Amino acid sequence: MLRAPFREDPETITAFVAEKRIWIHQKLAKKKAINHVSHHREFVNGQGFLYPGKSYRLRFINNEQIGKFEKSTDGFVLKLRHGYFELYESQKHNARNHFISWYKRQTEIKLKERMPRYDKRVGVRVEKLRVSDLGHRWASLSRNGMVNLNWRTVMAPIGVFDYILVHEMAHMIVRRHSKEFWSLISRIMPDYKERILWLNEHGAELDL
Ligand SMILES: [Zn+2]
Repeated sequence: MLRAPFREDPETITAFVAEKRIWIHQKLAKKKAINHVSHHREFVNGQGFLYPGKSYRLRFINNEQIGKFEKSTDGFVLKLRHGYFELYESQKHNARNHFISWYKRQTEIKLKERMPRYDKRVGVRVEKLRVSDLGHRWASLSRNGMVNLNWRTVMAPIGVFDYILVHEMAHMIVRRHSKEFWSLISRIMPDYKERILWLNEHGAELDL
């Protein structure tokens, strides 16, 4: 788990946590991430793309190079293997869409993988899940109990991803960001404030 540097004093952090909705706006993160390099990504050889918390370079390959592999795929043109994101040169024009599809699928997989770690501790059972483009929100909980996650969340380090998930699961028990809500979160994840700070500092980088 990456530790975010504590630039703000504990008072500010407490106030921040108490007041802010957790699906912290990427806008807010952008404003705070003054010292960070631009997160704008181009679909060119060597560009780094995040998955969970790590950066992997993109390399374009021609269809001949991939050979037999083409048939034994999971249906995705974009692949993460040998430490690289690989995409056919012929699909370059559509690279962004391939990345979005890939991230959506990975978010679904991660959700199913991470959920069992927390459901008993939170005391809920998530029946309905959806991964979509939630714009400036990381996640939300629908009235009908559906947990919605932004596909960008899977770019975050796993501990931050877990926090986003646990936050929404906790909402199934406590709807509002009350004292009760935060005490539930802190019981399950005592270092949740660090994870919030990470999102605050780096959230804007979780994008294409
Ligand atoms: Zn919330």
